[in-house]
Amino acid sequence: MTRVLRAAVDLGLRRRRQQFLWTSCRQCSSGIIPNEKIRNIGISAHIDSGKTTLTERVLFYTGRISQMHEVKGKDGIGAVMDSMELERQRGITIQSAATYTMWKDVNINIIDTPGHVDFTIEVERALRVLDGAVLVLCAVGGVQCQTMTVTRQMKRYNVPFLTFINKLDRMGSSPTRAVQQLRSKLNYNAAPIQIPIGLEGNFRGIIDLIEEKAMYFDGDFGQKVRYDEIPAEFRAEAADRRQELIECVANSDEQLGELFLEEKIPTVADLKLAVRRATLKKSFTPVLMGSALKNKGVQPLLDAVLEYLPDPSEVKNYAILNQEDSEGKTKLLLNSVRDNSQPFVGLAFKLEAGRFGQLTYVRVYQGMLKKSEYIYNTRTGKRVRVQRLVRMHADTLEDVNEVYAGDICALFGIDCASGDTFSDKSCNHISMESIHIPDSVISVAMKPSNKNDLDKFAKGLNRFTREDPTFRVHFDDENKETVVSGMGELHLEIYAQRMEREYACPCTMGKPKVAFRESIAASVPFEYTHKKQSGGAGQYGKVIGVLEPLEPENFTKLEFKDRTVGTNVPQPFVPAVEKGFRSACEKGPLTGHKISGVRFVLDDGAHHIVDSNEFSFIRAGEGALKQAMENGRVCILEPIMSVEIVAPNEFQGAVIAGINRRHGVITGQDGVEDYFTLYADVPLNEMFGYSTELRSCTEGKGEYTMEYSRYQPCSPSTQEELINKHLEATGRLPAKKGKAKG
Ligand code: GDP
Repeated sequence: MTRVLRAAVDLGLRRRRQQFLWTSCRQCSSGIIPNEKIRNIGISAHIDSGKTTLTERVLFYTGRISQMHEVKGKDGIGAVMDSMELERQRGITIQSAATYTMWKDVNINIIDTPGHVDFTIEVERALRVLDGAVLVLCAVGGVQCQTMTVTRQMKRYNVPFLTFINKLDRMGSSPTRAVQQLRSKLNYNAAPIQIPIGLEGNFRGIIDLIEEKAMYFDGDFGQKVRYDEIPAEFRAEAADRRQELIECVANSDEQLGELFLEEKIPTVADLKLAVRRATLKKSFTPVLMGSALKNKGVQPLLDAVLEYLPDPSEVKNYAILNQEDSEGKTKLLLNSVRDNSQPFVGLAFKLEAGRFGQLTYVRVYQGMLKKSEYIYNTRTGKRVRVQRLVRMHADTLEDVNEVYAGDICALFGIDCASGDTFSDKSCNHISMESIHIPDSVISVAMKPSNKNDLDKFAKGLNRFTREDPTFRVHFDDENKETVVSGMGELHLEIYAQRMEREYACPCTMGKPKVAFRESIAASVPFEYTHKKQSGGAGQYGKVIGVLEPLEPENFTKLEFKDRTVGTNVPQPFVPAVEKGFRSACEKGPLTGHKISGVRFVLDDGAHHIVDSNEFSFIRAGEGALKQAMENGRVCILEPIMSVEIVAPNEFQGAVIAGINRRHGVITGQDGVEDYFTLYADVPLNEMFGYSTELRSCTEGKGEYTMEYSRYQPCSPSTQEELINKHLEATGRLPAKKGKAKG
């Protein structure tokens, strides 16, 4: 009891000290926190790796929260507590889009990166905003399916990261295997900068390979870090691993490489700088380890965040110039100097309607933002006043008067969509790089169960679409129903649940439909004349060109290329042709699904002095597309999902047979202890009802995750089935019995 009390007093002192450090830092000479005292980081992980536990420990050690909670989870460890209540409590403490804390007088913004695969847009948006990340791996599970997704995203957004291997206390943990997987599965140049002292139940502390010392975490909450000599029995291993680390870093850092070739021994400072340079260059990831649950290894991880991850000035950020040049996007390098000499530019990366009302999270990329100033939404051109400017602490708001480049803050009561750019008046012609938004792959009709709830329903949809661009809504005129589309069945189900929970509007969902696409397999020429002569002014427009298939990575896109020379198609009418082409792509001839993956190349055409107008060329564009689709070899594209299944070895045969039945292609296989992991690419259309099947064929012990991978042509049998179904639906073929999906 007294020990606990002492720990609480310790903590109180620490919090006060943090508070003091924070105040003193805010007041440093120029009044502006220097760049090197700021880190914007995210914590990414496969679900259940311990991200929440780790974040909580971080907030605890940095003095932002005074309690640690434990979940009684799968591992059977932890205080017993009602998990719903616990989730609620933890949620409030750490689930805001960005939490601000402080470690060793450096300001750290922890940006929440949601882990679920169906919400990749949120992960991507978060990655866009942070400067560095911590990738959490489970020491037993190693590199898992979602790990691959998040690392792919980190690559796309050029985010340097540290790796933290968690759960070293668990039975079967193997940090060596996890490092091997980082190298083999993800192709990373990774090396541990720490090794554990003991493993599983015997896990006692950590050896820092760079400083060559042992660390133990004493006190009831592991809050006291005690340094010691490396225990004798670990010295040889530590020396070998240190050498391995030097070699790995020397491979990607020239300066250390030179020292290595000259056979000079790098100093601790040399090595730290080299690790930093290589990490920032994204050619190396330092691997740390510990156990968040057992309070080991978290403080050195925080030290590593300060030591090896970039400050905001070390990351290049670009904005796009919104100009009407056909060649696309001109990029503008933003200036991250923290002062008011540059015009303000910021990105609204998350809207949150929560306990504090409507909050808009903004990352400042350039200049400064002051309370009561006016800023411009560069998408809508609207001017808004910054009434209140805050920073989120773990569970409180802190009002601030100004923020600078590199800071993350939240605004109150601003009307915008997430992904919008805000700027000062002088540069309202730019926007931050548009975030890569994946196309939705599944859609379902949705309606309120109770007709009187229509208002609430509309309100909810409006809010969700603003928050999440991968969640789309449209009204289907033919069937007179509201159709929502998204990234997976679960994604849409979660919104139905939110509708009930947050808007008291229970909803009924129809059968989910896969977003098939129509495309062409080979180039096909077109020559189409739109002509109408029915009294008054006529209509005339002729277009000649070719419809080409796009590369597989652009299967969901449409392109338009103007190759005309001369004035046969007058320049002002070219956009009309494009408009016609795009509108005709809304509905394909074979199955009624959208057309995509094609490029409309306009080579030539003809016009008439009197009868040609915009409308005639819109019609010509539409007609040309239809003609080309009729003459060309049309193929149907379908979304393919990357599926990862984990189950006990005895069920391997049944699982593989199930995947084969669903026309899946097995892409890899792995095994840990008594479990196997199967990787497969399976058409989304074949995945309906898979969770039930997997449960029944593995006695409830199998689990799977899936994420959208790409579009690809579907099998001839699916194509035939879809075509027949469309013919039946449009009354051109008598309905017949049989399975027809999609
Ligand atoms: P998240 O899904 O990644 O946020 O993971 P959580 O933090 O919710 O943790 C998932 C489960 O793993 C919970 O039951 C935790 O108690 C447990 N866990 C987290 N960290 C550790 C650890 O270091 N060791 C062990 N044995 N369990 C851990």
